[in-house]
Amino acid sequence: MSNNSKKIIVAVDGYSSCGKSTFAKAIAARLGYIFIDTGAMYRAVTLYAIEQGAIVDGVVDEAAVVALLPKIDIGFKFNSERGASDIYVNGECVESKIRSIEVSNCVSKVSSIAQVRSKLVAMQQAMGRERGVVMDGRDIGTVVFPDAEMKIFMTADAKVRAERRYAELTAKGDKVTMQEILENVISRDRADENRAISPLRRADDAELLDNSHMSVEEQMAWFMERYEQCIK
Ligand code: C5P
Repeated sequence: MSNNSKKIIVAVDGYSSCGKSTFAKAIAARLGYIFIDTGAMYRAVTLYAIEQGAIVDGVVDEAAVVALLPKIDIGFKFNSERGASDIYVNGECVESKIRSIEVSNCVSKVSSIAQVRSKLVAMQQAMGRERGVVMDGRDIGTVVFPDAEMKIFMTADAKVRAERRYAELTAKGDKVTMQEILENVISRDRADENRAISPLRRADDAELLDNSHMSVEEQMAWFMERYEQCIK
């Protein structure tokens, strides 16, 4: 835990599957901050929409998703085994279910819906009101907290990212191919960068971190150097 009392917001944005959550979680543990995975929130809405029939065979009925929004109660509960919070929808833990390829294939479409974004952005802003948070996503430094004291934009080679996601999913026992993961990573990046509302882009004042060939320890050293400067 940092011995410095000044609490800040660390915004971590970037491309799909480049280790944003692993990095953000490590920073939060180091600083004694709260870690918020905003991608999990968009995934939770997507999962609920699939379960409620607003997404059928990968086709998203936008009006039906919007109609479901008032019925979705998203919450987080700390899981000490994982050292991070699990996400809950209407009281059910969905942490594992939201990582499926089915959810991954529909989430960018759901996250492009204006009403979905405004509901989740308002929740994220409320969670960061006291500062002392590390939040990872696509629009944290540009839209959710444009005044974040530290902004990091992460990227890595698409193939390296797909390999990491593949290893993560197959370790859980999911039956996926490397090719479908690579296609999902590339198509989500394209959709996230080209959507009309809050597209994925590097904030002008965000520092670029390409972690294609960096260990988590090296990324932490990179971060701590900048953090010490920031809180001086
Ligand atoms: O971070 P993760 O890959 O789990 O995010 C899943 C999807 O959620 C992204 O591909 C993007 O469409 C959406 N997302 C977003 N804004 C955020 C976080 C995630 O649009 N702040």
